[in-house]
Amino acid sequence: MSVKETIFLTLQQALEAVCIDFRRYEPQVMLFSEVLRVISAGNAVIKQDSEKRGRWVAAEPGSKMVWMDGAALSEYVCRTLHEKDYEPEVMVAVCARVFQARAFPGTDPESGRAGIHIETNMERFSCRQCGNCCIFLDYHDALTPADVKQWERIGRQDILDWVGVSRTSNGKPIYRIWVEAATGKLARQCPFLEHLPAQNRWICRIHDVKPRICREYPVSRKHGLMTGCPGFSRQ
Ligand code: SF4
Ligand code: SF4
Repeated sequence: MSVKETIFLTLQQALEAVCIDFRRYEPQVMLFSEVLRVISAGNAVIKQDSEKRGRWVAAEPGSKMVWMDGAALSEYVCRTLHEKDYEPEVMVAVCARVFQARAFPGTDPESGRAGIHIETNMERFSCRQCGNCCIFLDYHDALTPADVKQWERIGRQDILDWVGVSRTSNGKPIYRIWVEAATGKLARQCPFLEHLPAQNRWICRIHDVKPRICREYPVSRKHGLMTGCPGFSRQ
């Protein structure tokens, strides 16, 4: 039996990851309702309205029902998650639903901190070189200072030429990719993406030194599925 790849998150990190997931995609109303049921131990009253996308919610039976659209419901569930320390078993149940993966409580072997192991389900991933992530996803503000340093260290001015740099009020650099030097505007598509029409494939011309955001995509099966990556489908 193959060993499943997992990531370990402390309880606090798991909480933050859940809320990042909630805000990352189109509102997942059904998921928000499920998580609310789990963290309220079934006390929350949640009702649908066939005319609208969202839920009527009351914190407990007898409380006033309040209408929430998807975004409001997402924020409400995140707020509720932050209001108290939930038992690891509750956070395990939340993570399993949110990340659509097996999760189990554990301890970080290095720090000894309690947390949750979550399977990434990346074993079946195989990049189809469809170009979807490079063409359609919004990664333009995700370049890290480490990416820039690496290109500076190895003298890749050809890549640095496509990095837009602005500064915060205290002088900290803010990077954007891929920016046309002449116009200061985002390029229509990544200048290092190349189409091979004969094979109907897209390749990355800076594969070995591409930005971290590109190297790490997709971070999980759910991330891939939610952002249109076909790398988990059977060919
Ligand atoms: S969307 Fe998925 S399959 Fe397509 S190029 Fe990106 S990682 Fe590969
Ligand atoms: S650097 Fe490579 S992986 Fe990243 S967007 Fe460009 S072509 Fe795609």
